[in-house]
Amino acid sequence: MMIVEAIPILADNYVWALHDGRSAVLVDPGDAPPILAWLEARGIVPSGILVTHHHWDHVGGLPALLDRFPVPVFGPTRGAAPSRPVADGDILDLPGLPWQVRVIDTPGHTRDHVCFVGEGHLFCGDTLFSCGCGRAFEGDPPTLYASLSRLMELPGETQVHCAHEYTLANLDFALDVEPDNPALQARDREARALRRTGQPTLPVSLARERETNPFLRCHLESVRVAASQHTGRALAPGAQTFAAVRAWKDEE
Ligand code: ZN
Ligand code: FE
Repeated sequence: MMIVEAIPILADNYVWALHDGRSAVLVDPGDAPPILAWLEARGIVPSGILVTHHHWDHVGGLPALLDRFPVPVFGPTRGAAPSRPVADGDILDLPGLPWQVRVIDTPGHTRDHVCFVGEGHLFCGDTLFSCGCGRAFEGDPPTLYASLSRLMELPGETQVHCAHEYTLANLDFALDVEPDNPALQARDREARALRRTGQPTLPVSLARERETNPFLRCHLESVRVAASQHTGRALAPGAQTFAAVRAWKDEE
Protein backbone atom coordinates (compact mmCIF):
# COMPACT_ATOMS: atom_id res chain seq x y z
CA MET A 1 0.00 0.00 0.00
CA MET A 2 1.21 3.42 -0.92
CA ILE A 3 1.94 5.50 2.17
CA VAL A 4 1.25 9.21 1.74
CA GLU A 5 2.44 11.70 4.35
CA ALA A 6 2.41 15.48 4.57
CA ILE A 7 5.61 17.43 5.14
CA PRO A 8 4.61 20.96 6.23
CA ILE A 9 6.82 23.66 4.69
CA LEU A 10 6.78 27.47 4.43
CA ALA A 11 3.71 29.20 5.89
CA ASP A 12 0.98 26.77 4.85
CA ASN A 13 2.28 24.45 2.09
CA TYR A 14 2.32 20.68 2.22
CA VAL A 15 4.85 18.57 0.36
CA TRP A 16 3.27 15.15 -0.08
CA ALA A 17 5.66 12.21 0.27
CA LEU A 18 4.56 8.98 -1.47
CA HIS A 19 6.67 6.24 0.04
CA ASP A 20 7.15 2.63 1.10
CA GLY A 21 9.33 3.29 4.13
CA ARG A 22 12.51 3.24 2.03
CA SER A 23 12.03 5.37 -1.10
CA ALA A 24 9.88 8.47 -1.49
CA VAL A 25 8.53 10.46 -4.39
CA LEU A 26 8.01 14.08 -3.32
CA VAL A 27 5.29 16.35 -4.69
CA ASP A 28 5.96 20.10 -5.05
CA PRO A 29 9.13 20.54 -2.96
CA GLY A 30 8.90 24.28 -2.31
CA ASP A 31 11.66 24.37 0.33
CA ALA A 32 14.47 21.85 0.89
CA PRO A 33 15.54 21.96 4.60
CA PRO A 34 12.30 20.62 6.17
CA ILE A 35 12.13 17.91 3.50
CA LEU A 36 15.74 16.85 4.07
CA ALA A 37 15.12 16.75 7.84
CA TRP A 38 11.97 14.65 7.33
CA LEU A 39 13.83 12.17 5.09
CA GLU A 40 16.79 11.93 7.43
CA ALA A 41 14.64 11.33 10.52
CA ARG A 42 13.01 8.33 8.78
CA GLY A 43 15.97 6.97 6.83
CA ILE A 44 14.01 7.43 3.60
CA VAL A 45 15.77 8.30 0.34
CA PRO A 46 14.03 10.34 -2.39
CA SER A 47 13.65 8.52 -5.70
CA GLY A 48 11.71 11.07 -7.72
CA ILE A 49 9.89 14.41 -7.70
CA LEU A 50 6.50 15.43 -9.11
CA VAL A 51 5.79 19.11 -9.82
CA THR A 52 2.28 20.48 -10.44
CA HIS A 53 3.25 24.00 -11.56
CA HIS A 54 6.11 26.48 -11.59
CA HIS A 55 5.26 28.77 -8.61
CA TRP A 56 8.19 29.23 -6.23
CA ASP A 57 6.40 27.71 -3.22
CA HIS A 58 6.18 24.45 -5.24
CA VAL A 59 9.63 24.32 -6.85
CA GLY A 60 11.87 26.46 -4.59
CA GLY A 61 13.52 23.43 -2.96
CA LEU A 62 14.46 21.72 -6.23
CA PRO A 63 18.06 23.00 -6.61
CA ALA A 64 19.10 22.00 -3.09
CA LEU A 65 17.31 18.64 -3.26
CA LEU A 66 18.69 17.75 -6.69
CA ASP A 67 22.15 18.76 -5.54
CA ARG A 68 21.99 16.05 -2.84
CA PHE A 69 19.79 13.58 -4.73
CA PRO A 70 19.87 13.81 -8.55
CA VAL A 71 16.46 12.15 -9.06
CA PRO A 72 14.09 12.48 -12.04
CA VAL A 73 11.69 15.44 -11.95
CA PHE A 74 8.28 15.00 -13.63
CA GLY A 75 6.29 18.13 -14.37
CA PRO A 76 5.16 20.73 -16.86
CA THR A 77 7.94 22.33 -18.89
CA ARG A 78 8.00 25.78 -17.33
CA GLY A 79 9.89 26.73 -14.18
CA ALA A 80 10.85 23.35 -12.81
CA ALA A 81 13.07 22.44 -15.81
CA PRO A 82 11.84 18.85 -15.48
CA SER A 83 14.02 16.02 -16.67
CA ARG A 84 10.76 14.28 -17.67
CA PRO A 85 8.21 16.74 -19.11
CA VAL A 86 4.67 15.39 -18.77
CA ALA A 87 1.50 15.67 -20.84
CA ASP A 88 -2.16 14.94 -20.26
CA GLY A 89 -2.87 11.23 -20.00
CA ASP A 90 0.73 10.15 -19.42
CA ILE A 91 1.05 7.16 -17.09
CA LEU A 92 4.19 7.56 -14.99
CA ASP A 93 6.03 4.75 -13.24
CA LEU A 94 7.04 6.26 -9.90
CA PRO A 95 10.83 5.83 -9.64
CA GLY A 96 11.84 3.35 -6.94
CA LEU A 97 8.22 2.52 -6.07
CA PRO A 98 5.82 -0.12 -7.43
CA TRP A 99 3.05 2.37 -8.29
CA GLN A 100 1.95 4.54 -11.17
CA VAL A 101 0.23 7.91 -11.44
CA ARG A 102 -1.67 9.41 -14.35
CA VAL A 103 -1.23 13.03 -15.45
CA ILE A 104 -4.33 15.23 -15.74
CA ASP A 105 -3.86 18.56 -17.45
CA THR A 106 -5.60 21.22 -15.31
CA PRO A 107 -4.86 24.73 -16.66
CA GLY A 108 -6.37 27.76 -14.94
CA HIS A 109 -4.31 28.62 -11.85
CA THR A 110 -1.35 28.63 -14.24
CA ARG A 111 -1.42 27.86 -17.96
CA ASP A 112 0.48 24.60 -17.49
CA HIS A 113 -0.73 23.21 -14.18
CA VAL A 114 -1.02 19.42 -13.95
CA CYS A 115 -2.45 17.03 -11.35
CA PHE A 116 -1.35 13.46 -10.63
CA VAL A 117 -3.72 10.64 -9.69
CA GLY A 118 -2.91 7.06 -8.73
CA GLU A 119 -3.79 4.36 -6.19
CA GLY A 120 -6.86 6.37 -5.21
CA HIS A 121 -4.82 9.48 -4.34
CA LEU A 122 -5.06 12.81 -6.14
CA PHE A 123 -2.26 15.40 -5.93
CA CYS A 124 -3.86 18.59 -7.17
CA GLY A 125 -1.36 21.35 -6.32
CA ASP A 126 -3.12 24.73 -6.38
CA THR A 127 -6.04 23.71 -8.62
CA LEU A 128 -8.38 22.30 -5.96
CA PHE A 129 -8.30 23.11 -2.25
CA SER A 130 -10.56 21.73 0.45
CA CYS A 131 -13.72 23.88 0.25
CA GLY A 132 -11.95 26.16 -2.24
CA CYS A 133 -9.94 26.30 -5.43
CA GLY A 134 -6.92 28.12 -6.80
CA ARG A 135 -7.08 31.63 -8.15
CA ALA A 136 -7.30 31.87 -11.94
CA PHE A 137 -3.91 33.63 -12.24
CA GLU A 138 -3.10 32.74 -15.83
CA GLY A 139 -6.31 31.17 -17.06
CA ASP A 140 -9.83 32.54 -17.14
CA PRO A 141 -12.55 31.15 -14.85
CA PRO A 142 -14.08 28.93 -17.59
CA THR A 143 -10.68 27.25 -18.10
CA LEU A 144 -10.31 26.61 -14.37
CA TYR A 145 -13.91 25.39 -14.18
CA ALA A 146 -13.27 22.91 -16.99
CA SER A 147 -10.20 21.64 -15.11
CA LEU A 148 -12.14 21.22 -11.86
CA SER A 149 -14.87 19.43 -13.81
CA ARG A 150 -12.30 16.88 -14.94
CA LEU A 151 -11.25 16.26 -11.33
CA MET A 152 -14.93 15.89 -10.41
CA GLU A 153 -15.10 12.83 -12.70
CA LEU A 154 -12.75 10.86 -10.41
CA PRO A 155 -14.30 8.33 -8.01
CA GLY A 156 -15.79 9.77 -4.81
CA GLU A 157 -13.44 7.78 -2.59
CA THR A 158 -10.39 9.48 -4.18
CA GLN A 159 -8.28 11.08 -1.44
CA VAL A 160 -7.59 14.72 -2.32
CA HIS A 161 -4.12 16.04 -1.42
CA CYS A 162 -3.94 19.81 -1.91
CA ALA A 163 -0.72 21.82 -1.73
CA HIS A 164 -1.93 24.30 0.91
CA GLU A 165 -3.65 24.20 4.30
CA TYR A 166 -6.29 26.78 3.37
CA THR A 167 -9.28 24.85 4.68
CA LEU A 168 -10.38 27.07 7.58
CA ALA A 169 -10.32 30.30 5.55
CA ASN A 170 -12.09 28.51 2.72
CA LEU A 171 -14.75 27.26 5.13
CA ASP A 172 -15.51 30.83 6.24
CA PHE A 173 -16.25 31.72 2.64
CA ALA A 174 -18.09 28.48 1.85
CA LEU A 175 -20.41 29.11 4.80
CA ASP A 176 -21.14 32.60 3.42
CA VAL A 177 -22.27 30.92 0.19
CA GLU A 178 -24.16 28.00 1.76
CA PRO A 179 -24.83 28.75 5.45
CA ASP A 180 -27.51 26.04 5.68
CA ASN A 181 -25.49 23.16 4.17
CA PRO A 182 -25.28 20.55 6.99
CA ALA A 183 -22.32 18.73 5.38
CA LEU A 184 -20.44 22.03 5.35
CA GLN A 185 -21.27 22.73 8.98
CA ALA A 186 -19.97 19.28 9.94
CA ARG A 187 -16.76 19.74 7.94
CA ASP A 188 -16.28 23.14 9.61
CA ARG A 189 -16.53 21.66 13.12
CA GLU A 190 -14.22 18.79 12.24
CA ALA A 191 -11.60 20.91 10.45
CA ARG A 192 -11.44 23.41 13.34
CA ALA A 193 -10.92 20.55 15.81
CA LEU A 194 -8.11 19.14 13.64
CA ARG A 195 -6.33 22.50 13.39
CA ARG A 196 -6.67 23.12 17.14
CA THR A 197 -4.50 20.04 17.67
CA GLY A 198 -2.14 20.99 14.84
CA GLN A 199 -3.26 18.24 12.45
CA PRO A 200 -3.74 18.68 8.70
CA THR A 201 -7.33 18.85 7.43
CA LEU A 202 -6.06 16.84 4.43
CA PRO A 203 -6.44 14.54 2.68
CA VAL A 204 -10.20 14.70 2.23
CA SER A 205 -12.35 12.51 0.02
CA LEU A 206 -13.62 13.88 -3.28
CA ALA A 207 -17.13 12.80 -2.24
CA ARG A 208 -16.88 15.08 0.77
CA GLU A 209 -15.63 17.95 -1.38
CA ARG A 210 -18.61 17.49 -3.69
CA GLU A 211 -20.87 17.97 -0.65
CA THR A 212 -19.04 20.98 0.79
CA ASN A 213 -16.90 22.84 -1.77
CA PRO A 214 -18.88 25.72 -3.34
CA PHE A 215 -16.60 25.68 -6.40
CA LEU A 216 -17.62 22.06 -7.08
CA ARG A 217 -21.29 22.87 -6.51
CA CYS A 218 -21.84 25.59 -9.13
CA HIS A 219 -24.22 23.33 -11.08
CA LEU A 220 -26.52 23.19 -8.04
CA GLU A 221 -29.40 25.53 -7.29
CA SER A 222 -28.21 26.52 -3.77
CA VAL A 223 -24.89 27.94 -5.03
CA ARG A 224 -26.42 29.43 -8.19
CA VAL A 225 -29.04 31.31 -6.14
CA ALA A 226 -26.49 32.56 -3.59
CA ALA A 227 -24.14 33.81 -6.33
CA SER A 228 -27.03 35.42 -8.22
CA GLN A 229 -28.11 37.25 -5.07
CA HIS A 230 -24.55 38.39 -4.40
CA THR A 231 -23.99 39.73 -7.93
CA GLY A 232 -27.55 41.04 -8.31
CA ARG A 233 -28.13 39.28 -11.63
CA ALA A 234 -29.60 35.94 -12.65
CA LEU A 235 -26.76 33.50 -13.34
CA ALA A 236 -26.83 30.26 -15.29
CA PRO A 237 -25.68 27.17 -13.41
CA GLY A 238 -22.17 25.91 -14.17
CA ALA A 239 -19.37 28.05 -15.58
CA GLN A 240 -21.20 31.37 -15.18
CA THR A 241 -22.00 30.71 -11.53
CA PHE A 242 -18.41 29.51 -11.02
CA ALA A 243 -17.00 32.78 -12.40
CA ALA A 244 -19.23 34.74 -10.03
CA VAL A 245 -18.27 32.64 -6.98
CA ARG A 246 -14.55 32.94 -7.86
CA ALA A 247 -14.93 36.76 -8.14
CA TRP A 248 -16.89 36.83 -4.86
CA LYS A 249 -14.12 34.98 -3.05
CA ASP A 250 -11.48 37.26 -4.60
CA GLU A 251 -13.27 40.25 -3.01
CA GLU A 252 -12.94 38.81 0.53
ZN1 ZN B 1 0.45 28.34 -7.20
FE1 FE C 1 0.97 27.49 -4.03
